[in-house]
Amino acid sequence: MHKGGRGSGVAGDLTLGIRPGMGKTIRHGHTAAAPRRATTARHPSYRGVMAPRVTQLRTVLTVTDLDAARTYYRDVLGLSEAEAISGPDGAQVVILDAGRATLELANLAQARYIADVETGGLPSSDVRLALEVHDATGATEHAAAQGVRLIAAPTRTPWDSLNSRLEGPQGIQVTLFQELGAETPGAEPTGAEPKVAAELAALVGSSSESLGGEPGLLLRTVGSATRHGATGQMPFTAVVVRDGVVIGTGVNTALAGVDPSGHGEVVAIRDAARRVGSADLRGAVVLSSCEPCAMCRLVADGAGVTEIVFAAPKESVPTQIDASPEVTARLVEAVTRELTLVVRQGPTDLAAAELSAPFAAYLATRDRSARRAR
Ligand SMILES: [Zn+2]
Repeated sequence: MHKGGRGSGVAGDLTLGIRPGMGKTIRHGHTAAAPRRATTARHPSYRGVMAPRVTQLRTVLTVTDLDAARTYYRDVLGLSEAEAISGPDGAQVVILDAGRATLELANLAQARYIADVETGGLPSSDVRLALEVHDATGATEHAAAQGVRLIAAPTRTPWDSLNSRLEGPQGIQVTLFQELGAETPGAEPTGAEPKVAAELAALVGSSSESLGGEPGLLLRTVGSATRHGATGQMPFTAVVVRDGVVIGTGVNTALAGVDPSGHGEVVAIRDAARRVGSADLRGAVVLSSCEPCAMCRLVADGAGVTEIVFAAPKESVPTQIDASPEVTARLVEAVTRELTLVVRQGPTDLAAAELSAPFAAYLATRDRSARRAR
């Protein structure tokens, strides 16, 4: 077995996972030589020669203290551990997943510009890691509280991101950045709803116990579903918990993301899978603001989720939101018979009207905008 990068011993080494044979594929529209102007277009070919297709960017750091580096990157900065392997003579490697990987090439003028914006002119290291987070301020405070040296506090950049700079072990600088305007893949689309998604996402890494266990988490999903509904989005949210820790969250993105499969539970499961670096979520529990539909049950079961615990029963969903509750119920029944997944209503102190607050918030917002449109 030869995983990309393992065994390479150069600090700051960048390793690319390459899918064999991809270079042979000719993709139409990309056979001409790359134009000489600056462009953001993708060019799999250079001077007519097809480049191999890269499927992963892995940055390999040689560290003197593996445990300390693992604590820093995993527990302080929030990367998730994908693999840990031991080799002969005490050889050890840990692979951490950071979501999407990109390689930014900056010329010296750009490096000076970035340094001016981000650190007040303090030069950047030649290799710098930049990690995108939901909440740059929170992530920076968290790192500082763990004793990480802050080079620069979060600053709003001219390209509308919030960036901070940390001094990591062995002089590797880390930029934490939050895109303020744009959407984060898989979750938040545009408008006011990213705030709700970000609030929920901030729970990732917290223990279920510290959030009030099952009742506390259900309460949060109902609260966030109400705020999400008030932004005009379908009023459903969910969190994924495994081994007593929140590993993923999601808000319904069906409207803003124009995605019929963007149910809160599905978005939360996708989020958890991406964060842990595996589609296998065996042993996880999904907590949802509302009883899940057949699709969500299938997706959860397929991912190895053992249980879905919900707050509001499906009977409380108004017909303006689910126009055919009988069909929904029949599908749920048919699917559930075949699944090992357990689905049950969880304990909350909420009265029926409070459980239905997300639907009321959504409908009130919808009515207001309908009146405005007239
Ligand atoms: Zn669903």
